[in-house]
Amino acid sequence: MQFIDLAAQYQHLKTKIDTRIAAVLEHGQYIMGPEVQELEAALSDYVGVKHTITCANGTDALSLALMALDVKAGDAVFCPTFTFFASAETIAFAGATPVFVDSDEKTFNICPVDLENRIKQVIDAGELKPKVIMAVDLFGLPADYPAIKEIADKYQLKIIEDAAQGFGGEIDGKRAGSFADIATTSFFPAKPLGCYGDGGALFTDNDEYAALLQSLRVHGKGKDKYDNVRIGMNSRLDTIQAAILLEKLAAFPTELENRNRAAKNYTNDLQSQFVAPFVPEGYLSSWAQYTIQVDNREQVMQSYKEQGIPTMIYYGTCMHQQSAFEHLGHKEGDFPIAEKLAKSVLSLPMHGYLCADSVE
Ligand SMILES: *Cc1c(COP(=O)(O)O)cnc(C)c1O
Repeated sequence: MQFIDLAAQYQHLKTKIDTRIAAVLEHGQYIMGPEVQELEAALSDYVGVKHTITCANGTDALSLALMALDVKAGDAVFCPTFTFFASAETIAFAGATPVFVDSDEKTFNICPVDLENRIKQVIDAGELKPKVIMAVDLFGLPADYPAIKEIADKYQLKIIEDAAQGFGGEIDGKRAGSFADIATTSFFPAKPLGCYGDGGALFTDNDEYAALLQSLRVHGKGKDKYDNVRIGMNSRLDTIQAAILLEKLAAFPTELENRNRAAKNYTNDLQSQFVAPFVPEGYLSSWAQYTIQVDNREQVMQSYKEQGIPTMIYYGTCMHQQSAFEHLGHKEGDFPIAEKLAKSVLSLPMHGYLCADSVE
């Protein structure tokens, strides 16, 4: 049994994907070919936003979003401590200061109560300028955007939605990628919507941000890429990856249903033994990970391993515990919920082709 079975997906979509790749090899427009625009239109349509700007990976997408929001040294960006490193890394890479926030006990996402407390602390300390809230749709579940939006409005902050894991998730029928001033996603192969290499995208309804992001991803281009009006990056999605994603996006709704069916079966079978994941009323998860909480993690992992069931720990180290952020001076106990999660979470096999027999 595989933790994520990318081979099963390829076997399922092989003819379509091979045909799409062959078409790119024939027309030869490897950079910014027609498939890139076709994909951006299809993604905007699916997510329900005005603009999609694809880029080289999910980390660049976050960096581009921070650049578009003019985040720089002296700015505070609030992000969960229980997340993948890239969320916090890009804030520091922009020269700004990541201000970590504890998690909600049930959803594992950024805790709105702790978020407001940390914003107040930054204002009281008077050293940093609160600028952006970077919420993460952890393991596929959208963060609590209704509450986050209220706080953002109150303190006049912008919101970035890191939907690298959240693509396909929903709140009351509205899709992940549409909840923030700028949202980002990743097409890393293991994400809910993955390509066959690196890839990423940004989503926004704002025309100015969209124009800025289109310039920033190609060396800060003006009229063309040899007219450079600002400092940007080289961060484009390869045409071949766009071609692959067009076929994967077409299959995505069915895969999302399968993931939700598998999650339901897991929960039915496991909730008497472990703390199963919680999905609030009106929310839909894309199940980037199916993550349970266990007391005796080592033993449970060992026993699953002996039965040929792979498990993974996402994440065993919070951002405030990473050596790279040692200089921020945090200590054990600063983020009690996140620290407890890091010690007890365990993710089970999950992908769009997981059948009921395998779940059992
Ligand atoms: C994977 C991931 C990223 C980064 O995406 P890459 O495409 O690997 O650069 C950012 N944030 C979160 C939460 C992720 O899971």
